[in-house]
Amino acid sequence: MVTYCHKCGTKNIDKTHCSNCGARLLTDINNDGIPEMVQEIVPVECPWCKTVNKVTTETHCKSCGGPLPAVSHNNSGINRGDMPPPPPRKLPEVYVKKLKYRSTLFIVGIIFIVPFIWSIIFPIIGFFLVRSALRTANRKIAALENGIKAEGELIDIYKDTSESVNGRHPWRLDYEFKTQNGELITAKKTGAWSNNNRHRKPGDKLWVVYLPENPQINAIWPPVD
Ligand SMILES: [Zn+2]
Ligand SMILES: [Zn+2]
Repeated sequence: MVTYCHKCGTKNIDKTHCSNCGARLLTDINNDGIPEMVQEIVPVECPWCKTVNKVTTETHCKSCGGPLPAVSHNNSGINRGDMPPPPPRKLPEVYVKKLKYRSTLFIVGIIFIVPFIWSIIFPIIGFFLVRSALRTANRKIAALENGIKAEGELIDIYKDTSESVNGRHPWRLDYEFKTQNGELITAKKTGAWSNNNRHRKPGDKLWVVYLPENPQINAIWPPVD
């Protein structure tokens, strides 16, 4: 099959990658030299381990194996990707550790405990902070591991200027989804730092996983933080 490289124009015959520049070639189904499908490489940050994957057709992270959001080639954007697998789901270990032990609340709690272990009041405050941080993390892990899936929609997304690290702000995502009982749940995700969010816009379809006994315990799948 004859394919003209969409990057450099080189004519290739029966090749999967351009002989001149190495670009992945396009599929020329009817053999007229005009590719039917343009597949640009889109950098997608792994929602689990933060490795940047250069995605054309890949669905899972090359580093941690976690599912990636899908690439939509027509606008170099990303979309929600495959529906969540049925529970229980195995989450990448690196992500579970990050959720539990890298949250600001957890770290502040530890700072209250360790240097002040000789005192009474600070370790007690620290204990409650750590407990609260782990409770928040465990709820999210429970939703991701064991939640049932729902169709969700992004209502709004914007830079949250109430939070700032080194002059940068995370995104805030407002979203809603319907439970299997038809109840409409609105939820928010704050502190979302992932660069993938620059591709998202209100109206985007999302996957949400939630605990049926308490749909307030829910999370976007795959994660957007
Ligand atoms: Zn080329
Ligand atoms: Zn990964």
